[in-house]
Amino acid sequence: MAQTQSSQTEKDCIFCRVLAGEIPSEILHRDEHCFVIRDIAPIAPVHLLVIPIQHYIHATDASPDVEATLGHLMSVAKDMAQREGIFESGYRMAVNQGPDSGQSVDHLHLHVLGGRVLEHEG
Ligand code: AMP
Repeated sequence: MAQTQSSQTEKDCIFCRVLAGEIPSEILHRDEHCFVIRDIAPIAPVHLLVIPIQHYIHATDASPDVEATLGHLMSVAKDMAQREGIFESGYRMAVNQGPDSGQSVDHLHLHVLGGRVLEHEG
């Protein structure tokens, strides 16, 4: 797998700046590997972002830690879904990667969407 590159650096990355407290956001959960915030432009009643602390760009980054991190993000997503009351009704976990997906922040993140019936695409 090739290491992906981006013009964004950690210094000007929105999510790194949120983590550093430079952009205000309520941190709903934080542990040694990731943190969780609400999406600033939610498209569902519950729309969370589970974000690794490490500035990975893509889920396919060449770091050996990415696969373990992805598993952890999904585990935290489950805990958050329970906390938000959408575990039973169901929720979507989505990772956008690359231009066609609409990825707008070049820092790997897991969307957690729920609280309504979601359109099915794909
Ligand atoms: P993506 O399009 O998959 O890269 O998702 C990036 C998400 O980050 C979008 O849904 C944005 O609404 C969200 N976002 C951008 N800036 C912030 C912010 N400061 N706080 C919370 N969410 C944000």
